[in-house]
Amino acid sequence: MATMQYTEIAMQPGKRLALVAHDNKKADLLDWARTHRDQLAGHRLCATGTTGRLLEAELGVAVERFQSGPLGGDQQIGARIVEGEIDFLVFFWDPLEPQPHDPDVKALLRMAVVWNIPMACNRATADFLVSSPLMAAGYVRRVPDYGGHLARPIAG
Ligand code: PGA
Repeated sequence: MATMQYTEIAMQPGKRLALVAHDNKKADLLDWARTHRDQLAGHRLCATGTTGRLLEAELGVAVERFQSGPLGGDQQIGARIVEGEIDFLVFFWDPLEPQPHDPDVKALLRMAVVWNIPMACNRATADFLVSSPLMAAGYVRRVPDYGGHLARPIAG
């Protein structure tokens, strides 16, 4: 089996967090964020539109706001991940209700995996992640080297 090659990307102690919650999960995210307010305030926060507005009011800290999720906000966050501008994703998506932007939700989850960023999709995982000593430390994120994909032969 071929050895996997990696590109190393340094994450700083002050991280850039993206937060998203579907409507039925917003109360849960706000409660989680309140619990960890002081810790979250030490990082840079961004969010989809409505989630960001609610978080800003709840925490009293600045939250960069993208469009509302169904209007493209998930895709904006996905693009930021691709550009290396987001270190960490908290995404409380609703497993019991179809969303108008389900393809965008899947795309965002996929980008987090492609670029190997830590991602919490439920409260327990989010609790474990913020309790990690790595939250306040530098971290070298290893992203698979996608050079083989870029150099693949294309017929014609
Ligand atoms: P919202 O978007 O924060 O604007 O409600 C979240 C989503 O549904 O993706």
